[in-house]
Amino acid sequence: MIYLDNNATTRIDDDVFNAMLPFLREEYGNASSLQHKMGRTAHQAIEKSRQSIANLIGANPKEIFFTSGATEAINSVLRGVFARYQAIGKHIITTKTEHKAVLTTLEILEKQGAEISFLPIDQNGNINLDDLEKSVRADTILICLMHANNETGVVLPLEAIAEIANKNNVLFFSDTTQAIGKLSTNYETSGVDICCFSAHKLHGPKGIGGIYIRRKSRPIQIEPLITGGKQENGFRGGTYDTASIVGMGEAFETAVLKPSTKLAELRNYFEERIIDEIEDTAIHARQAIRLNNTSNIVFKHVKSAELMPKLTNIAMSSGSACVSGDRDPSHVLTAMGISAEDALCSIRFSLSKYTTKQELDIAIMEIKSAVAKIRSESPIWQLYKSNLL
Ligand code: PLP
Repeated sequence: MIYLDNNATTRIDDDVFNAMLPFLREEYGNASSLQHKMGRTAHQAIEKSRQSIANLIGANPKEIFFTSGATEAINSVLRGVFARYQAIGKHIITTKTEHKAVLTTLEILEKQGAEISFLPIDQNGNINLDDLEKSVRADTILICLMHANNETGVVLPLEAIAEIANKNNVLFFSDTTQAIGKLSTNYETSGVDICCFSAHKLHGPKGIGGIYIRRKSRPIQIEPLITGGKQENGFRGGTYDTASIVGMGEAFETAVLKPSTKLAELRNYFEERIIDEIEDTAIHARQAIRLNNTSNIVFKHVKSAELMPKLTNIAMSSGSACVSGDRDPSHVLTAMGISAEDALCSIRFSLSKYTTKQELDIAIMEIKSAVAKIRSESPIWQLYKSNLL
């Protein structure tokens, strides 16, 4: 299997797996049971991981809170900020290209009285900063804009957004799930107030992630989503998943110490060959600043629902993994002004440090022949080539 679906999830690193094992077997103490040695061992391992994660994003460990992943983190932030600040204002600014974890949660908040403004998105998946500035109102409590898009890899200008948010005294939350560990951003100095992460996007285990909340002179108040014991200072109750937290710390440490250097080169090689060797293909947001590992490609008049089953040796995705069961065109691509037809003919390929040039060569060969076969049997393609469409 040639795995080109790393924005959906990644292979776990061997070092990560090995670091987790003792905490799944002999070191099973509850990290909150500080009265005995086994509990303290688990506690220390968790705090070491918190430090590794803080190092990756340039934060203080006290600013890191663990959750079950980015979806929970996003729910905690959006619901928690709205619960705490709605007396001051109910206005939230975002875009239609956010992950469904954001969009679905905001839909629910809208039913509870939140007013959501969606900024326009250009063909390159970007926002206009003037639009952002103009959309801030006296009752705006939150700007919610992701750092890197999971479907296109487009990177939004975090620092410039943060500047507008800070100037207007509005909180800025960025879904940084796809960006952390792939970009070398220092989130502490970027000016973002709150961001989130997920271990499985970075060769760590699934089901673990967290939130960074900047410690400001005036503390940011977020109502807890999951109440229970005093874990995470009462912000997130529930027994710690020590093994997963240790795995996440190890994965984040590896990302700092051994950053992947060949990804951009491999991705560009892949894109250039696809464009050169398969007619009527295009890379979405090719001119934008993008993650090094992501290519979203339209194969004109070849529906991804038809192409993907033919590529049985390649793992890839149409839309994001969370919505790829849907038959609807990607909400991200359509928000960028791409036609529903082109969106339905688009596929996301996402590489990782484990991807090799040989794998890409095989993938390109298979994609080329599958596209050619589908087109040769397609009356629509014949009409299009005869300028009759
Ligand atoms: N946000 C973005 C941008 C993502 O790509 C994902 C994963 O698909 C999520 C949030 C949700 O992450 P998790 O799987 O940790 O809940």
